[in-house]
Amino acid sequence: MGDIPESHPRRDSLLSRQKMVEAASKGMLADSALIAHGRGEAFDYLLGEKTCSAARLAISETAARLQAAEKCVISVNGNTVALAGTQLIACAAVLNCPIEVNIYYRTPERMEILLSTLEKQQQQAIALYPKIKEKISRVNLLGGNPDSRIPNLEGPRANCHSDGILSADTILVPLEDGDRCEALIAMGKTVCVIDLNPLSRTAQMASVTIVDELSRCVQILFELLEKGTEQIDINWDNKKNLDQAIQEILQNFN
Ligand code: ATP
Ligand code: MG
Repeated sequence: MGDIPESHPRRDSLLSRQKMVEAASKGMLADSALIAHGRGEAFDYLLGEKTCSAARLAISETAARLQAAEKCVISVNGNTVALAGTQLIACAAVLNCPIEVNIYYRTPERMEILLSTLEKQQQQAIALYPKIKEKISRVNLLGGNPDSRIPNLEGPRANCHSDGILSADTILVPLEDGDRCEALIAMGKTVCVIDLNPLSRTAQMASVTIVDELSRCVQILFELLEKGTEQIDINWDNKKNLDQAIQEILQNFN
């Protein structure tokens, strides 16, 4: 993709597409993953492909909640590993928490390629963020040997680790599915999601929803986590924040 000029107005979008295509060819993604990505792209277009003010507030709230958690975890699927695995490992390092692979269509082959990709990304993260290299090398990559299940959820996507998703009080799940988000909320967890569609069940159900593109917002999240100064807003109203995101989309067309 070196042939996309720096000035191309869709450069970031095209680079992300290329990452997704490569991930698909390596077997990291389920067939429907590219469709899910396309749905996200459509909403990002409506948002003007930039981080809106509502999303900035939600990123700050997410940083604060992750930092205040007793025990947190970052749950990743194929799309997330392909688009932002390296940056999320850096976030996990600052938080001193594990990364857990949890995928909708679980096969041993896909789990293996996702975990080995994360291992490579861990090395890349060490090179990219040398100041926190020790913390990065200590990030636990979970998902390979689940010993528990998320209650009230059918199928292999309920499989999880007791020292990861099961016992965490706060969970960051980029690109979550509505059913699973509901099940995690029912367990009493604080669920922070990243979802470009402010109308999805996930977005509506979560404790905190960041309506922004994953690769764009993780950079901001990482910087806030490194600073470590964000405070929880005890009056956080997620519905109000979603409404603000929708209003910002509408304003792009006025
Ligand atoms: P739900 O299950 O929550 O009702 P859905 O079934 O409509 O939502 P899924 O296919 O489960 O959607 O998941 C895809 C979701 O991820 C979409 O809402 C899409 O907007 C979002 N999405 C896809 N790619 C990205 C991305 N790169 N950044 C942020 N969000 C994304
Ligand atoms: Mg869904």
